[in-house]
Amino acid sequence: MRTVHQSTTFVVTRFKRSSISSTLASSPLSPLSTEEGSALSVPTVRGECLLKYQLRPRREWQRDSIITCNPEEFIAEALELPNFQESVQEYRKSAQDIPAPAEKRSNYPEIIFLGTGSAIPMKIRNVSSTLVNISPEKSLLLDCGEGTFGQLCRHYGEQVDQILGNLVAVFVSHLHADHHTGLLNILLQRERALASLGKPFLPLLVVAPTQLRPWLHQYHNQCQEVLHHISMIPAKCLSQGAKVSDPVVERLIRSLLKTCDLEEFQTCLVRHCKHAFGCALVHTSGWKVVYSGDTMPCEALVQMGKDATLLIHEATLEDGLEEEAIEKTHSTTSQAIGVGMRMNAEFIMLNHFSQRYAKIPLFSPDFNEKVGIAFDHMKVCFGDFPTVPKLIPPLKALFAGDIEEMEERRERRELRLVRAALLSQEQAGSPEVREPQQKRAHMDGPQSPQSKKVKAQ
Ligand SMILES: [Zn+2]
Ligand SMILES: [Zn+2]
Repeated sequence: MRTVHQSTTFVVTRFKRSSISSTLASSPLSPLSTEEGSALSVPTVRGECLLKYQLRPRREWQRDSIITCNPEEFIAEALELPNFQESVQEYRKSAQDIPAPAEKRSNYPEIIFLGTGSAIPMKIRNVSSTLVNISPEKSLLLDCGEGTFGQLCRHYGEQVDQILGNLVAVFVSHLHADHHTGLLNILLQRERALASLGKPFLPLLVVAPTQLRPWLHQYHNQCQEVLHHISMIPAKCLSQGAKVSDPVVERLIRSLLKTCDLEEFQTCLVRHCKHAFGCALVHTSGWKVVYSGDTMPCEALVQMGKDATLLIHEATLEDGLEEEAIEKTHSTTSQAIGVGMRMNAEFIMLNHFSQRYAKIPLFSPDFNEKVGIAFDHMKVCFGDFPTVPKLIPPLKALFAGDIEEMEERRERRELRLVRAALLSQEQAGSPEVREPQQKRAHMDGPQSPQSKKVKAQ
């Protein structure tokens, strides 16, 4: 994903000095074209995934590796899967039967999941970022992992500048790369979008741990000037009972609340790395959206999020991997659901899945009519709450093969644990052999070959 943008940027800035969005928006019929109005008469080539240029023996563009997608083929393939068509029919019927209550039918806020995977970007799930469109004119981002701008382009196409122009604030939960490294590109693209829309440039409000500052300063001093893009509100200044002595920060907080029509923007420390925050947004119309960032089950989040309309909670790992979840300071699906239930949240959307569950996470018996799972580019409004959980049976039919594979892996892991426990019981009388046995059981332990490669952050 990144390669595409980089190569596109390179071609455009080097030869044409035009904007990225114009290249993304324009879709030349011929991939090799000399665009009119070019200042230099140099041919420009639109970048594509897996496009290659050969230098020897003959200079030429090679396109044989470029992948073409045919959505109709995918749909035909899905329709042939056992039970898929039936479960889609059932979903449609049940979705018609439960109209959303009138007061929830408003189209705003819209929650758009731009990145729902953990740690590293993969083709199915990008890293953390969620767009909250508070109204048609005001938006904010909850986290901003690498590639967030690319995801916005994919989601909005030619309308991406509009969204960047609407963007009022970004909340950065903590300083892990899957949550903040997309910020720089958002800042630069937003400046360009505002100029092309003819809107005045105002710095973006960024609510983040203060540790983001040295990172920004370093980038500013050594790479590119970015500091003028940001007005920073330290996340701790929004925690309950915090005293804000700096009048500048106080003014920024007032501006954040006023511009977004928020009654409250609260943060709390969560149980992840040092300086990791969750947040709760309370709108003047009464709705409350709570975002966990990365965390183990956290009582402070439960208290801050009491009676939330929507909780967006990380669910990095499957049930049964509680030890790994503690080691990596994340939550399992059931733990995340438990937090939402204790919070009395009206609805819970799970995200930030380990990339070992890129297609689909493993479901547990805790999933209920208040729980949905997020996918990249999924849009959820409050009126969708009754229907989102009903998507689970069609999803189970669609990904039956993958679920079976993951369940087999879980069964093998559980068997290994039982065997290891039995062995250690047997050897309880001979402590000198017990230790190496336990060690081996742990090494063979719960991780799949894939999970060894993809470590959740
Ligand atoms: Zn993360
Ligand atoms: Zn993290």
